[in-house]
Parts: sequence; C-alpha cells; structure tokens
Amino acid sequence: MCVFCEIVNGNIPCYKIYEDDNFLAFLDLSQATLGHTLVVPKKHYENIFDLDENLPLLKVVSKIAKALKKGLGISDLNIVNNNGPLAGQTINHFHIHLIPRYEGDKVSFIFGENKISNDEFKTLVNKITKEIK
Ligand SMILES: [Zn+2]
Repeated sequence: MCVFCEIVNGNIPCYKIYEDDNFLAFLDLSQATLGHTLVVPKKHYENIFDLDENLPLLKVVSKIAKALKKGLGISDLNIVNNNGPLAGQTINHFHIHLIPRYEGDKVSFIFGENKISNDEFKTLVNKITKEIK
C-alpha cells in the first residue's frame, strides 16, 4: 500500500491539519518552508489524470490556504501539484502542495519560455479543446 494510503488509514502517523470525508491535509515532513502542507484525497488516485473531477478539491485547498495565511501570518503561497516523473511526482498518490512563501526562502520555480507562432497557438488550442469532455 502507498505511503499516503497508510497515512490516511492511520498506519503511519502525520501532523494532521484537516480532515473531512474526502480529504486529509497534513504537514509535509520535508517542510520546504514552514507550514508546507499536503492535501490528499483519501481514496487512492495516482495523479490528476486519474482523479475524480467532482471532488471538491479547490474548496479544501482554499480553506487550508486561508488557515495558513492567518495562522502563520503569511501573505504569499504557492500551490504545486506534480503529475508523473517528468513533472517531479515522487509519491504516486495525487497530492497538492501548499507552500507558504517567506522573504529569502530557498524555494524557486523557473519557467522557461518558448516563442511560438500564431498558427502554433491555434494548433495547440484545437488539439486541447477537442479533448475537453
Ligand atoms: Zn495511496
């Protein structure tokens, strides 16, 4: 069984932040910054491609973000979700990272840039939109 399923089932302890019927939120042991929290569905979904899109995920993420803001006195926060090895997913149970940001912290995200033509933009739009169910 995966480590997050073990945490959900209470076989591995965690620093619990929040729990409801569908989700559990707990402190990430790595603490990229203080308050670094994970939100996981209680049911095992491997990644976003597997996830039930009817789950009220944003509701829970938003609730935890606001608690981090007030409780830790922060005003900046990243929400990160990795899907698949190329994207840096290391535990194959869907999870969202909430990472409070502090002046001078060690977190960085570097987005490269691709210059593409108008036609390439249109091709991308077509390829993607035809798959939206
Ligand atoms: Zn799992």
